[in-house]
Amino acid sequence: MVSFYLVGHEYEFEIRNIFKIFDLNSEIKIYYDNNINFDCSNLIVLSEIIESLDSYSCKTTLYLNRKVINHITVSSKDIELEKNDEKKLKKTVVKKSLYNSFSIYFNEKAEYGFLTGIRPNKILAMALKNGMSREHANLILKKTYEVSDSKIELLNDIYDRQIKYMDDEENNGNYNLYIHIPFCPSRCVYCSFVSFSNYDQSIIDEYVKNLTCEIEETIKIAINNRLKLNTIYFGGGTPSVLSTKNIDDIFMVIKKYYNLNDVKEITFEAGRPDTINKELLKCLKDNFVGRISINPQTMNENTLIRISRNHTVADIEKIYYLAKNIGFDSINMDLIIGLPDETPEDVLNSVRKVIDLKPDNITVHALSYKKGSKLLNAVKTLSKDTDTVEKMYHITKEICAKNGYKPYYMYRQKNIKGNLENVGYALEGKESIYNIVIIEEVETILACGMGAVSKILKGNNRHERVQNYKDLREYNNNFKKNIEEKYNILNGGD
Ligand code: SF4
Repeated sequence: MVSFYLVGHEYEFEIRNIFKIFDLNSEIKIYYDNNINFDCSNLIVLSEIIESLDSYSCKTTLYLNRKVINHITVSSKDIELEKNDEKKLKKTVVKKSLYNSFSIYFNEKAEYGFLTGIRPNKILAMALKNGMSREHANLILKKTYEVSDSKIELLNDIYDRQIKYMDDEENNGNYNLYIHIPFCPSRCVYCSFVSFSNYDQSIIDEYVKNLTCEIEETIKIAINNRLKLNTIYFGGGTPSVLSTKNIDDIFMVIKKYYNLNDVKEITFEAGRPDTINKELLKCLKDNFVGRISINPQTMNENTLIRISRNHTVADIEKIYYLAKNIGFDSINMDLIIGLPDETPEDVLNSVRKVIDLKPDNITVHALSYKKGSKLLNAVKTLSKDTDTVEKMYHITKEICAKNGYKPYYMYRQKNIKGNLENVGYALEGKESIYNIVIIEEVETILACGMGAVSKILKGNNRHERVQNYKDLREYNNNFKKNIEEKYNILNGGD
């Protein structure tokens, strides 16, 4: 156990996140005073804010077995942020001091420094929006947040790729329709999404009946608020468990209000090859779906069995060619690095096999230990496996680059292996608009379906969220309340 004594601040959440950069397992106890009880644990951290006339600093002192082993002081005068924000400045001073103290203790530096949020690229975007030069913004990433040069390069590459989709006026006037299908043919061991693998067609039919009602009412709310439909995204779960009738029913409702040909991008996650056939793909094509995801996660048979996916590598290849022949504009394939017992050679095999298929997008996820996943329940201690996963990461990065796939969006998750990120790569001109606008949080997402989350843009980069019911029965009985919540936020002014 590690004991933290906080004096002059209460940044418990931030403290926990910084510690997790180095140690995912130890229990943490927080005290809000400086009366240290040296009997409570071997490793003790004192984090105190010290005020002076025109500034303040944070001093972190690390004690091991009652002895001071290091102390680091960071002053507010030495910190430059991407924007003026007193509250953020104070947190940054505390986090930086703590991070540097742990860096010495664990003899480790993190690629993202002490950034632990989901979207490190927002710092670069904010700095540039505030009129800073590129050099100045990069200096803040490096000096203030201690981000490595290679990650700064990645953030810049992604920023440049996304810039053509960033237009305040257009982004503010758009909305994107997300449709959630919470059923999967079997449960993958690493997954924590709310989805069911015990279902029959009658359960899906009842769900789709309610879902189409929610979609129609949501569209009406959007139209009344003069929002323009930009993209449609079917996610899950596994949307391809739907019957062609279910799919036609959903599109029928949308077609009452929109010419689907005019929607910039319609994506359908046909994630699991064991749910896809020619009839389904044709139905999607007839409904103007232009982008689909066929997700192998790995191209190694043994791993597919280990992670409980009921399909083979040959199934993936067969379905991929079927989809290619039907003629979708863009096919995405997801891979995960850091899967149980996989080696860098396995990842090399997977990425080569995927590249041979020539998909338009490849999304590489670093495995994260998600709450509620079978994987997290099965492991006693979480391993960051930094070296191995980094090797895998570089393999995917290099092979993608060599074959013309460039990064166009990224995000990070909690408890991620190697403290890395998930990166979406795309061939030139094949970026997914939905992925960019949802990750960068620049447009409204109106989400329908069980467990779906709407994010409604309310000016000044502020979003209001509507979390739909996460339980199937509750959703079926009460989804109209979720519609009402969206209505109230959109009609409630800023
Ligand atoms: S990873 Fe995808 S297919 Fe597997 S259980 Fe989760 S949502 Fe379903």
